[in-house]
Amino acid sequence: MPVKAEKLVAVKGMNDILPPDSARWEWLEGQVRELMARYAYGNIRTPILEPTALFVRGLGEVTDIVEKEMYSFEDKLNGEKLTLRPEATAGVVRAVVEHNLLYEGGKRLYYMGPMFRHERPQRGRYRQFHQIGAEALGFAGAEVDAELILLAHALWQQLGLEDVQLQLNSLGQPDERRLHRAALIAYFEQHADQLDEDARRRLHLNPLRILDTKNPAMQSLVADAPKLLDFLGEASLAHFNRVREILDANDVRYQINPRLVRGMDYYNLTVFEFVTTRLGSQGTICGGGRYDYLIEQIGGKPSPAVGWALGVERVLELLKEQGAELSATDLDVYAVIPEVQALPVAMQCIQSLRRAGVRVQMHAGTGEAMGSMKSQFKRADASGAHYALIFGADELAQHEVTVKSLRDGAGNQTRYSLNQPSEWASHLQSRT
Ligand code: ATP
Ligand code: MG
Repeated sequence: MPVKAEKLVAVKGMNDILPPDSARWEWLEGQVRELMARYAYGNIRTPILEPTALFVRGLGEVTDIVEKEMYSFEDKLNGEKLTLRPEATAGVVRAVVEHNLLYEGGKRLYYMGPMFRHERPQRGRYRQFHQIGAEALGFAGAEVDAELILLAHALWQQLGLEDVQLQLNSLGQPDERRLHRAALIAYFEQHADQLDEDARRRLHLNPLRILDTKNPAMQSLVADAPKLLDFLGEASLAHFNRVREILDANDVRYQINPRLVRGMDYYNLTVFEFVTTRLGSQGTICGGGRYDYLIEQIGGKPSPAVGWALGVERVLELLKEQGAELSATDLDVYAVIPEVQALPVAMQCIQSLRRAGVRVQMHAGTGEAMGSMKSQFKRADASGAHYALIFGADELAQHEVTVKSLRDGAGNQTRYSLNQPSEWASHLQSRT
């Protein structure tokens, strides 16, 4: 007798997505595909593994992600330094540069897929999670910032999401950031006793990051820190105001949040987040902004860009929290097949019905036997199907099949010919 093997379980913070829950994922992905097509965003699929240097250079060395959250390792075979992508913008930019996608103008792209961050798992925060993102590369104008915000806003409306607020800020340009940075360092130095360890370390490396702290003890200190908005020059303010005008004209409400800095170094000018109060402390469902210097930083010809990413788990959780029912896609038919001899004819019929668009679950036996009629009907009832198809010996002798209603008008029976199942297939999709 072999020793019973020890059970293996998934890596902590990484979830299996199982039916029926996976239907919600597919539904959301379908909604997104359809919406992206209406905004003329094309799908891009980049590798999950990228060179570690891409993220270190792209996101900034002094960021939570690069300092603490990346799954990085050396390839055993060739020593390459690799990282499971913690976000997708850097990879999209790498691909756009590598394939020279901007040679004839801007590109609008979207992606969906898993991301990896070594964080403390909790509700709305996982080590493998999923993002859907949209990026517009090669466009400098505020109208594209606004288009992306309108796109996200339209998605919430299409999904029926409630209680989502838009927060908006401008991070200005590097020279404006430098002035603000000096003021910020002076301010935090005055209050050095209130800084936590992370903040003390970042004070001279990357003081803006201190504003992004999640430490509750530092919130009031951060709230009174010098605001970047007060350091913006004319051009940056004009860009910000243009975005606001377009949002106003489209009745998209927002709050200006001068503390909003985002977690990556690559942002400038417009930054935004969509937040909800319904998900506890993991309330940000989507974040984004302009990143006009990233393409250059990753080795491309300097080109402006803007984008956002949403957290799929958080969006689905919010929908669930609201009690949103996913309109179920019911099974039409459960096929009851009492004898193995009936299988060839039965499955020929089932295949015709499926080709005609009917959703059919076929009874499958155990070993040589198909199981008793009684046990098959039990399964048919449990399946939620609207009809049972019975391929009994009587029926087959007459080259027919019995259709029995399982739900509305339960028990009603009709017989149909096996000659042309496509002729009566539509009866199995009717619900009266
Ligand atoms: P947070 O402040 O919650 O850590 P973030 O600023 O690190 O978020 P981004 O890098 O901007 O997040 O990613 C965009 C979105 O992806 C977030 O708004 C969130 O919805 C989702 N997200 C980020 N990290 C996780 C995670 N570990 N688990 C689940 N969703 C996440
Ligand atoms: Mg984070």
